[in-house]
Amino acid sequence: MVSFRLSEEQKMLQDLARDFVNEEVIPNAQKWDMNGIYPKETIKKANDYGLLTVKIPERYGGGGMGSIEDVIIAEEIGRGDPGFATAAGSSILASYPIITGGTEEQKEKYLSKTADGIIASYCVTEPDAGSDVRAIKTEAIKEGDEYIINGSKMWITGAMHAEWFFVLAYTEKESGYHGMSGFIIDADSKGIELGKKESNMGQRCSDTRSVTFNNVRVPVENLIGGKENEGWMNAMLAFDHSRPAISAHAVGNARGAMEESLAYSKERKTMGKPIFKHQAISFMIADMATKIEAARLLCWKAAMTLDEGNRNTLEAAHAKRFAGDICMEVTTDAVQVFGGYGYSEEYPVARRMRGAKVYQIFEGSSQIQRLIISRELE
Ligand SMILES: Cc1cc2nc3c(=O)[nH]c(=O)nc-3n(C[C@H](O)[C@H](O)[C@H](O)COP(=O)(O)OP(=O)(O)OC[C@H]3O[C@@H](n4cnc5c(N)ncnc54)[C@H](O)[C@@H]3O)c2cc1C
Repeated sequence: MVSFRLSEEQKMLQDLARDFVNEEVIPNAQKWDMNGIYPKETIKKANDYGLLTVKIPERYGGGGMGSIEDVIIAEEIGRGDPGFATAAGSSILASYPIITGGTEEQKEKYLSKTADGIIASYCVTEPDAGSDVRAIKTEAIKEGDEYIINGSKMWITGAMHAEWFFVLAYTEKESGYHGMSGFIIDADSKGIELGKKESNMGQRCSDTRSVTFNNVRVPVENLIGGKENEGWMNAMLAFDHSRPAISAHAVGNARGAMEESLAYSKERKTMGKPIFKHQAISFMIADMATKIEAARLLCWKAAMTLDEGNRNTLEAAHAKRFAGDICMEVTTDAVQVFGGYGYSEEYPVARRMRGAKVYQIFEGSSQIQRLIISRELE
C-alpha cells in the first residue's frame, strides 16, 4: 500500500523543523547571505535539535531514522534558506561513505563527531574534475603504515570550519574507477592548505573553497572500510543517501518562494485589485504549487525506496533533476510576481533565486542526472 500521509511522529518532526526554521533561520537568512556569514552557531543548534543527523544510527548518537524523515526535515530547512541548508548539510554528506562502508572503529570515532555537531566536508571535486570524477588527480601512496596524499580539491563546502574531510583519491590509477579509495583526513594534519572563500552568486552564507593536500600523512586506519579501491562505490552510494535530501532542500526553497509570492500577490494591488486576482499571476502561482507537489513526491519516492532497502539511484536522479530545475523556475517566477521589488534584495525572493541555481549544478548537475536516468532506462 502506498500512503502519502505522515505518521504522528513524522508530523512532530516536521513541526519541530518548521518552528526551528521560523525562529532561527528565516529572521537571519538575509543578513547571513548579504554579509557572507557562516551560521556556525545555528548549525550547531539545528544539530542539537536532532535535525541534521537523523540518518546516523542511534548507537553513534544520531537519530537512527530513515530517509523519509530526512527529506521531511530537509524540505523545512530548505524553506528557511538554501545557503543555510547547504552549509548545514556538509557534515552528513561527508559521513555517508563511513555509514555505508566504514569500519566499526571509523563509525565510532567519526559518526559520533558528526552527531555531536562537528563540521566535516566531502572532498571529491577538483579544478579539472567535477562531473567527470574519473579525471581526479589526487593520489594516495602507501608508505609503511601511512598513506601520503597529494592533490587539490575544489568547491569544498564547509572546508574552513571542517575538523575532518572525506577525500577521494587514486590508490591504483590504472584501474580507473576501481582504483579509487576513500580516506578520512583530520583537518589539523600537516600539509593541508585552504584557499580563499569563493565569491558565489548565491548561498553566500555557505563556505566554499579549495583544499590542497601536500604530502599529507594519513594513518592506514583512516582508509575507509580498511580496503583499497572501494572509494568510488562509497562516494557514489553517499549520493543515493544525500540526493533525496538535497532535492528536498530545493523543494523547500521553491515552497518558500511560492508562499512569499502568494502572500505578496494578495497585498499588492494594480488596476484596482490584488495582483492575485489577475489570472496571469494566480496561474503562475498555481503552476508553482503543482511543480512543488510533484517534486516533493519524487523526493519521497527516492527516500522510501532507500528505506525499503532497495537501490534508489534512478529515483534519486529523477528527484534531483526535477527538484533542481523546478526550484530555478519557481524562484524565477517568484521574482516576477514581486516585480521591481523582487529584483531588489529587500525581499527574500532574490536570495532564493540566486540560491536556487546551484541545485542544477552540485551533487551531480541536471545534465548528469539525465545521463544517469537515460543509462538506467537503456
Ligand atoms: C556552491 C558549490 C558547492 C559545492 N560543494 C562541493 C562539495 O562540498 N564537495 C565536492 O566534492 N564538490 C562540491 N561542489 C562541486 C560540484 O559538485 C561540481 O561543481 C559539479 O559536480 C559540476 O562539476 P564542474 O563544476 O567541474 O562542471 P563540469 O563537470 O565541467 O560541467 C560543466 C557543464 O557541462 C555539463 N556536463 C559535464 N559533463 C557532461 C556530460 N557528460 N553530458 C552532458 N553535460 C555534461 C555539466 O552539467 C555542466 O553544465 C560544489 C560546487 C558548488 C558550485
